[in-house]
Amino acid sequence: MRIFDPHIHMTSRTTDDYRAMHAAGVRAVVEPAFWLGQPRTSPDSFADYFDGLLGWEPFRAAQFGIRHHCTIGLNPKEANDPRCAPVIDLLPRYLAKDGVVAVGEIGFDNGTPAEERAFAAQLALAVEHGLPALVHTPHRDKAGGTARSLAVVADSGIDPSYVVLDHLNEVTVDEVAASGCWMGFSIYPDTKMTPDRMVRILQRHGTERMLVNSAADWGHSDPLLTRATGEAMLAAGFGDDDVDRVLWRNPVAFYGQSGRLDLTGGQPGDAPGAAAPAAHFEGNSILRGGS
Ligand SMILES: [Zn+2]
Repeated sequence: MRIFDPHIHMTSRTTDDYRAMHAAGVRAVVEPAFWLGQPRTSPDSFADYFDGLLGWEPFRAAQFGIRHHCTIGLNPKEANDPRCAPVIDLLPRYLAKDGVVAVGEIGFDNGTPAEERAFAAQLALAVEHGLPALVHTPHRDKAGGTARSLAVVADSGIDPSYVVLDHLNEVTVDEVAASGCWMGFSIYPDTKMTPDRMVRILQRHGTERMLVNSAADWGHSDPLLTRATGEAMLAAGFGDDDVDRVLWRNPVAFYGQSGRLDLTGGQPGDAPGAAAPAAHFEGNSILRGGS
């Protein structure tokens, strides 16, 4: 089973996690820029964080045979802090960089006007740079927040196929499915989505435009829940090809729209006989190969 975790915060994870993820089949990740728990007080500390996502973390991942890309953005929570809002002005410089495959995480936290301004401005930047956008849906009032997020996405004029709404559940999936946006699901150890609930959503909605992630960070989370979801799919009667689509080909297709996904080359630590990457990218074209 080859796995691409499309949303995981490796900065807050250990080398033991990288090792275990590789053993479970994880060969690629996307790490979205997000809130770090401790509030930041100036755009400079964002710049250092973004540099880490583009420099140190891909280097660390490569040592364990895992390809690392990132998304860059001002997260909704810190969009409310006037000291952080000028981060928006730093973004164009970062969005031009090769390792950046989307704008994000953006969206709503409490639903304030400042959040909406930052959200809309960053969707405009995604359009300008030809990048996908990763939209975080709020954990409180998820249904209301998801509906408002879809309205802001529609107003921005971005192609819905360039947008994923993440942290969805049974309540919010229908509306996002109808919008044409991608559907992201974060699988957690003891709250929100579980592997079995995810399987039931896939049984109802199919595997198209579906992304499954662990969203692992510094909170209680588990970077192996992508693998557990693949196993739960197989146990429920899905085939290997369905699992490969959800856990590998879908994230490759979504982030591949950036034209920057690089899954080529020998990856250190790949076990002999491990599946080769299904696709590599030259410009915007996907060259299918392998299985
Ligand atoms: Zn996140």
